[in-house]
Formats: sequence, C-alpha cells, structure tokens
Amino acid sequence: MSNRPSWRTWSGTARCAPATLLAPTREDEIVHAVRQAAKIGRTVRPVGTGHSFNQLACTDGTLLDLTRFRGVVGVDRDAGTVTVRAGTSLRLLNAALDRAGLALGNLGTIAEQTVAGALATGNHGTGLTHPPFSGQVTRLRLVTADGSVRDCDTREDPELFRCARTSLGALGVITEVTLRVVPRFNLRAVLGREPLDALLERFEEWAGSAEHVSFSWLPWADSAATRALDRTAAPPTPRAARHRYDSTLAEVRCGLSGLAGRLRPGIVPRLGRTPATGERVTYVDTAHRVFAFPQPIKFLAMEHALPLENVPAVMAGLRGALRRFGSYSPYSVLVRVGAPDDSPLSPAYGRRTGYVNLCVPRTAGYIEILRVAEPVLRDLDARPHWGKAHTATAEILRPRYPEWDSFARVRAALDPDGVFANDYLGRVLGPVHAGQPA
Ligand SMILES: Cc1cc2nc3c(=O)[nH]c(=O)nc-3n(C[C@H](O)[C@H](O)[C@H](O)COP(=O)(O)OP(=O)(O)OC[C@H]3O[C@@H](n4cnc5c(N)ncnc54)[C@H](O)[C@@H]3O)c2cc1C
Repeated sequence: MSNRPSWRTWSGTARCAPATLLAPTREDEIVHAVRQAAKIGRTVRPVGTGHSFNQLACTDGTLLDLTRFRGVVGVDRDAGTVTVRAGTSLRLLNAALDRAGLALGNLGTIAEQTVAGALATGNHGTGLTHPPFSGQVTRLRLVTADGSVRDCDTREDPELFRCARTSLGALGVITEVTLRVVPRFNLRAVLGREPLDALLERFEEWAGSAEHVSFSWLPWADSAATRALDRTAAPPTPRAARHRYDSTLAEVRCGLSGLAGRLRPGIVPRLGRTPATGERVTYVDTAHRVFAFPQPIKFLAMEHALPLENVPAVMAGLRGALRRFGSYSPYSVLVRVGAPDDSPLSPAYGRRTGYVNLCVPRTAGYIEILRVAEPVLRDLDARPHWGKAHTATAEILRPRYPEWDSFARVRAALDPDGVFANDYLGRVLGPVHAGQPA
C-alpha cells in the first residue's frame, strides 16, 4: 500500500496522490518548495480549496495547499483596493471587508474558494457591466518556476499581469492579490418566473435589465425562474436570512431527487414540477449574502462561456437534446451574463458573455447528461470553464482564444521545463513549447 498523501477535490470527482503535500504559511516557504521541486525534477501544483471539478490541480509531484497562506495584508481606502494572501477564502475576505465598510463589487454563487483559485479558473458572477473576477484585480505577486518572486500590474510587467490574471496555475504560484473594492452595499433581489420562450426572445434586452441577472430552467419545464439584483439604499428586510437559505434548501432537495432518480429516473421531473408563472418575491440583504449561499450537497458541474447573442440558440439546442435524451438531472440549467475581459485565457476574453451551467449528481446515469449537452455548447463557439467538467483539448480551444499564443509565449518564457505542468494542462494547453519557435 502506498504511503503517499492523498488529495481530492471538494466534489470528489478528481483525486491524486502527490509525492509531497505541503501547506506553507509564508512566502519564503513557497519559494523554497518550488526551488526544491525544480532541483529534483518534480512538478508542482498550487491548490486552494479544491472547488474545481476536474484534474486541474492534480499532481504526482509536489502539491502546495495554499489554504493556510491566508489573511488580509492591507486596505488602501484612497485607491479603493484590498491586498490579500492568495489562499484567503472569499468568505473570509467578504467578512473582513464588511467589517471595514467595504465589499467586492460582484461574486459567484459560492464564497468558500480561495482568491487565487477563483482567479486561476476565470471565476465569474453575473452582470453585463461586470467582467469576471480577474477584472477586479489591480496587482499580483507570484513565485515563478526558478523560485523568483515577480510583482506585476498594468505598468510593471503588463503582459505578465494580463496573462497571470487567468493562468490555471500554469505560470507560477500566486502569493498576493490586490483587488478593487467598493463601499459596502445592499442588493434588492427580485425573484420571478416567466415562459422560457418569451425570455429568450428578448434575451439581450433582459440581460441588461438589472445590474445582475440570472435565470434557472429545468429541461422539462416551459418556464424559467428569474433573479434580478440591483443596488439599493434600503436596509435588509426583516426575514432576509430565510431567502438566503432557500437556495441551500433547493440544493438539498436536488440531492434527494437525484437519489430517488437513481432508482426511478422518470421520477425526477415529477419531483421538480414547476408552475408556468409565479409570484414575484422581493427582498433586500447585504450584497455578499445575496450573491453566494452555502452549498452542502456535492455534485458535478459543467459550464461554458458563449457570445451573449448565442445563448437563445444554445438553450433551444439544449432543450431539444436533453428532451430527446429523456433522462434528467434534478438541477436547473443556470444562465448568467458578463462583460468582456482582456486576460488572454479568460473565457470571457473579448466578448460580452453568456454563461450556461449544468449540474448533475455525481453518478454514472447522470454524467451522461453532460456528454449530451457538451456538443450543443461547443457548436456555438463556447469556451469551457477551466475548473469544471469538459472534454475539450488544446486543438479545440486554441482557435477560440484570439490571444492564445500570447499566453503560450509567457508560459514558455517563465516555465520552460514545465515545473507547473500536469496531465490536465497538457490536454487543455498542450506542452509548454506548443506553438513556440524551436
Ligand atoms: C459549489 C460550487 C459553486 C461554484 N460556483 C461558481 C460560480 O458561481 N462561478 C464560477 O466561475 N465558478 C464557480 N465554481 C467553480 C470554482 O469556484 C472554481 O473552480 C475555483 O477555482 C475554485 O477555487 P479553489 O480555491 O477551490 O481552487 P482549486 O480548485 O483548489 O484550484 C483551481 C486552480 O487554481 C490554481 N491555484 C490555486 N491556488 C493558486 C495559487 N496560489 N497560485 C496559482 N494558481 C493557483 C490551481 O493550480 C488550480 O489550477 C463553483 C464551484 C463549486 C464547487
């Protein structure tokens, strides 16, 4: 039996047995670990809380768990920024900012992941005026393959800065991140329901109808649940906490339906029956409590970023493909939107983006649903979320990223020997020198 340490993702959908598992608390320990590994020809992968669903962080070399390298380094109120250690969780950061009367301008649906992990995979929330999380970064510090420590921003090493903001852990270990912050704010949430076809007909107009919009749709239903968030000066409504946990309860119900569906697949749509229209529900809460909610049930997710205008066609394609397939996940298809980004490997690079997310229980019968959906998305110019399930390879991805070669050049210069390589990066980015002159 191997006495190697073992590591697995939050969802348990990827695991590895690294030769060494380290949890540094200081930057010089990270430098030392990278130098030592490079010296003996071992690869290194940095990792956060493992909230990615694929083999992105896996290695049989040195795994650097950054979750103990955490904490706020400083707040610059004049510049409107906060600097944090890379392993700080968004939850911890939200709480610290809240105490200082500040907040992040946008968030995804979960706050458990680390700042660097969220950056590395192109994390995003929703909102047509909001780029992904990488767009909130103003400065980065990273340890590269030769053990040197590099700082970068739009003036100092701007090309490295652009690339490192969405870098899959392929350029080095990010140790510090400076992020733009705004004064603490509340959000008014308006929850509704409308026929899917009517929503898709005016999709681009709807996408800009509130600061943050999203909709969720169950493939057997004709209507979608909508969510629109706007800033408000109003205080939190008295029972706001109840709404906070409604989404968590819905996830628990999905988990239970998923179990029932393993025995009788046909039962899933009956357990998740939805009305054609619904009453509007409105409430106000602190922004970070509206954006994210606790998600205790494990699942597997696949998400793709598309040109915004392709979302109606993708949804029509998914409806056809999933209904023909006839077996359903209890989780809704979630649609979000976002502003363009200029980081070369950002899935939102250069275009207004619609994000289409599918979740399934982690067992075989359900995973097949993702195999049915992926070609529909891929055919409409989609770029997969770097941290979620997908089967794309570098050959498929390269033509979808206009500045792919800029990233490849920076990677080849910083990590010529592939210290930060692993099998997943080999598949999605190709070898370190791919596309480079010999
Ligand atoms: C329940 C759930 C909800 C989610 N909701 C959203 C959502 O709303 N929006 C969205 O976009 N995504 C979402 N995700 C995906 C998730 O946020 C990302 O995959 C994110 O990367 C996870 O961060 P992490 O700290 O767990 O990173 P990990 O999964 O641990 O690592 C991801 C990548 O980051 C790299 N990395 C980690 N630390 C460093 C570092 N210090 N320096 C360099 N590279 C590093 C790793 O090498 C790896 O390549 C969700 C995931 C789950 C499980």
